[in-house]
Amino acid sequence: MKLIVLGSGAGLPSKDRNTQSIILDCVDEYNEYILFDVGEATQHRILNTHIKPSKIKNIFITHLHGDHIFGLPGFLSSRAFQGGQNIPLTIYGPKGIEEWLESTFSVSKSTLNYDLNIVEVEADMKIALNNFDVSVHELEHGIESFVYILKEKDKIGELNSAALKDLGIPPGPIYSDIKRGESFEFEGQIYESKDFIGDKIKGRKIAIHGDTRVVSRQAYLDDLKGADLIVHEATFFQDESQKAHDYFHSEINHVLDNFKDLSYKILVFVHISNRYDDADIDLVKTNLKDNVFIAHDYFELPIPRNVQ
Ligand SMILES: [Zn+2]
Ligand SMILES: [Zn+2]
Repeated sequence: MKLIVLGSGAGLPSKDRNTQSIILDCVDEYNEYILFDVGEATQHRILNTHIKPSKIKNIFITHLHGDHIFGLPGFLSSRAFQGGQNIPLTIYGPKGIEEWLESTFSVSKSTLNYDLNIVEVEADMKIALNNFDVSVHELEHGIESFVYILKEKDKIGELNSAALKDLGIPPGPIYSDIKRGESFEFEGQIYESKDFIGDKIKGRKIAIHGDTRVVSRQAYLDDLKGADLIVHEATFFQDESQKAHDYFHSEINHVLDNFKDLSYKILVFVHISNRYDDADIDLVKTNLKDNVFIAHDYFELPIPRNVQ
């Protein structure tokens, strides 16, 4: 699993930073990509990657500001011609997303050749995907804005095939029976399956934020605890916390301070203002720990799994 940031900019696009769109690449595990926010020209960004639009089956929209959604109608329309025919897609987003898309498609006489499901979310909702449970928390951004926290489902541990072979049990369908069942019989002996299965493989926790002020609500912070990856905005840098607050955005050090007790593994900042040039960003980076990153467009980072 890996993170791919297609658009890392705030508000206005620049030549270097497009408006927000973020991919969670789960192709190796689940043969799909999950897309978060679809800033204008997201589909053009995708053309420069190996990402197949037909493998995007779930899109999460954090909030309805244009820099997070203006690429959505174009992406959805093109997907139909990029192998997405008959492959359903679900969009999760704040109230209003359905009306906006319906009127856009109606006025432009656009039709799709696949099923589009739209789910309007609200604070504290739980969403069940095939491989993830998703919790939703409301942020503070002037309009409704959400963080989506994806919790990958745990997996049963690896089968100890060497130990089974030692008993004289050759590989075959019995191996999957052993993995599924509590016990099994072989040559008149009963064995406990758990003695041949390794530790449970713990699912990863990934949190992708919409635009927001720094939020210190306890239930939200508790849900972020131990996250393998947090993606958060940093529209403002050093000493601009008050300004960030006034504009319903965040300043990078204020976020770091807010998250200091969360024991997260990786923190990635996005939604970087184009007011900052490379020199400004390099200066900020010198004060960051090794597990904290400021993303650029096409930034990629693996999200390792921790076996427990
Ligand atoms: Zn924004
Ligand atoms: Zn916004």
